[in-house]
Amino acid sequence: MSEKTRYYLDLEDRYGSHNYHPIPVVLERGEGVYVWDVDGKRYYDFLSGYSAVNQGHCHPKIVESFIEQSKKLTLTSRAFHNNILGEYEKFITDVFRYDKVLPMNTGVEAVETAIKLCRKWAYEVKGIKEGKAKIIVCHGNFHGRTSTIISFSDDPLATKNFGPYMPGFISISFNNAEALEKALEDKDVAGFLVEPIQGEAGVVVPDDGYLSKAKELCEEANVLFIADEIQTGLARTGKMLACDHENVRPDILILGKAMSGGMMPVSAVLADDEIMMLLKPGEHGSTYGGNPLACKVAITSLQVLKDEKMAENAEAMGKILRNELEKIDSLHIAMVRGKGLLNAIVIDHHSNDAAWDLCLELKENGLLAKPTHGDKIRFAPPLIITKDQMMECIEIIKKSLKFLD
Ligand code: PLP
Repeated sequence: MSEKTRYYLDLEDRYGSHNYHPIPVVLERGEGVYVWDVDGKRYYDFLSGYSAVNQGHCHPKIVESFIEQSKKLTLTSRAFHNNILGEYEKFITDVFRYDKVLPMNTGVEAVETAIKLCRKWAYEVKGIKEGKAKIIVCHGNFHGRTSTIISFSDDPLATKNFGPYMPGFISISFNNAEALEKALEDKDVAGFLVEPIQGEAGVVVPDDGYLSKAKELCEEANVLFIADEIQTGLARTGKMLACDHENVRPDILILGKAMSGGMMPVSAVLADDEIMMLLKPGEHGSTYGGNPLACKVAITSLQVLKDEKMAENAEAMGKILRNELEKIDSLHIAMVRGKGLLNAIVIDHHSNDAAWDLCLELKENGLLAKPTHGDKIRFAPPLIITKDQMMECIEIIKKSLKFLD
C-alpha cells in the first residue's frame, strides 16, 4: 500500500464513523467505466456506486447540465416554484407513464414516501381502520436504513440494538406466490413492497412469472403493488425497469440512484392521481426534493440512458458476462446469476473470507468489486461497457480466481 493511500485511509479511520468497511483503495478520478486511485492506477468499476453510476462516471452530458444549472439556480425549496421542476415532472411522467411524480433525494426517503402514500390510500380509499394498515415485504429485502425501513429487515447487522421497531409489516419469503396469496388474506393489508430482483441480498432473481403473478394477486386483493426499483431500474437489468421484463406496471414505482448518474442524491416516487392526489400541502416534503439542479440533472441522466441505448447494451453485455463466467473452470464459483448488468457470483470456499480476499485480488489486477452478504460478489459495471472491455474484465476475473486455488 502506498504512503498516499495509507494517509487517506488513516484520516477516515481517525475522523470518520466506522459504519462502512471499504475495500482499501482511495479513488480520485472517474471516467466512463474506469476509476483511478490516488497513485494513478486505473481500475474497471464493477460496482458503479451500487448502480448509481449506470451512465458511467462523469458522463460529459450530465456534467454539462450540472455545471450549467449550478451557475443559474440550485435550490429554491418548495416554498416557491422554479422553472425546472415542472419540466422535469412532465418529462419523467412521460418516460414512465404515470400521472404524477413526487421528487425526493435518497433512495430510502423515496421508500418512506411510498410507505406513507400506501398507508394514506389504505385509510382514505381502501377503508382500513386508522393505524391498522399492513404492508407485506420479503425476507432478504434491502430498502435502506432509516428506523422504519430497518424495522422490516431480517439482517441482524441492520437491526440489532436499533429498536423499538415500527409495526405494520408482514414478512414473507421472496419468489413465493403462494406465501403472498396467503398473506393477502388479511384484509388489513394495503401494499406489497418488493424489489423485482433482490440486489443487496446478492442479486436474487425470482422465477419468471413471479412478478406478474404477484401483481395479479395484489389486484385481486385490492392491494397496492409497490416496486422498489432503486437498484434494478434505469436500464440496469436490460430494460428501463426490471418490472418491464414481465410487463408489470407497479401501482407505486420507486426510483433513485442512477436518476442523477452519480452526481447527487435524486429519487422519485411515481403513481397515478388516485394515489398521489391523496397528499395535501404540508403532509410530506423535503427541503432539497425537487430542487432545480437535481431536476435538470435527472432529465439529462434519463435522456442519456435512452439516447445511448444503455438498456440494450446492458442486456447484450450481461449475456456475454454470464456466459463467460459460466465457462470458467473454477471450483470456487458455486453460482452465476443475474439479469442485464446486475450480476453476482456465489463463492464456494472453505475460508469465510474468500469473497473479500478475491475482491482484494481483483483490485490488484485492476477491477473493483465488493462482496455482499459474505460469499457473494456483485458484478455490475456501468452500462456503457463495450465488448472488448468486458472481455478484458473476464480475463481479470479468471486470473484472480486462481488466487483461491
Ligand atoms: N432500495 C434498494 C433496492 C436499494 O438497493 C437501496 C440502496 O442500495 C436503497 C433502497 C436505499 O437507497 P439510499 O442508499 O439512496 O438511501
